[in-house]
Amino acid sequence: MSIHPSEALKLCKRCSQMAPQSHDYCSRCGSRSWVAAPKGVSQAASRSAGYGGQLGIAPWTVGDLARGIGFFTAQALTVFLLFILTTLLIEDANLGLYALVVTFILEGVLLATVWIFAVAKYQISWRALGLWRRPNAGDVILAGSVFLVGIGVQVGYLSILKLIGVDTGRVTPSTFIEEGGVVLVLLSILALAVAPVAEEIFFRGFIFGGAATRYGFMKGALASAALFSIAHIEPLKFLPLFVLGFLLAWIYHKTGALWGSMIAHLLNNALALVVILT
Ligand SMILES: [Zn+2]
Repeated sequence: MSIHPSEALKLCKRCSQMAPQSHDYCSRCGSRSWVAAPKGVSQAASRSAGYGGQLGIAPWTVGDLARGIGFFTAQALTVFLLFILTTLLIEDANLGLYALVVTFILEGVLLATVWIFAVAKYQISWRALGLWRRPNAGDVILAGSVFLVGIGVQVGYLSILKLIGVDTGRVTPSTFIEEGGVVLVLLSILALAVAPVAEEIFFRGFIFGGAATRYGFMKGALASAALFSIAHIEPLKFLPLFVLGFLLAWIYHKTGALWGSMIAHLLNNALALVVILT
């Protein structure tokens, strides 16, 4: 699609593709709902920044990303503090269950952050964060491939750690298994449904989408992968999580949708769950 530089632009509310004011419906998803194009960003500008993927143009700015990350961090610290207080005040606290509740809350805060700084602020649809089209076979194939590459990276990384004598000991929360029943069901719902959906919308849809629109694929993927791995607060897993985060951003970049990255994320968590429970 060619756009004359002087022509006024607008964004598709559903898929955030940019179009001239004169367009009636979106050439990508067919929607007729539009929002104003953000200042200072044009398709040409994002292309020249090295971006050449399937993403639309994120109307939220780098300032919104910074405010969003600050907001989430503040909420996370508050929740952690309450968690620690609770475990100190209540004897025989059911730690596995409390840790799960905290994680559920934080996944919700991820979505709340995206709602405040992108969806509500710019009056776009949730679907503009990579959910504007239906999943297809290509999404599944890419997800499977990335999952396999991810396994290779994890196995290689663990072997190297072992070789240089780092104790990788299983960081396995054995309390989960001891607490059994409800906790295991909640853990599965978290790992296989809530986390893949909420984290892909936040780290890939919001962070990577916003950063890639301004700075291109490579910088956006590196920044979102770094945040993704830092957010897991597991120093030994920083590197494999970083690689996984980068690959998940690449899927979004290639397909313009989050389905592939959600499936790859789900497969990765399913494997981790199997390792924990066996
Ligand atoms: Zn559209």
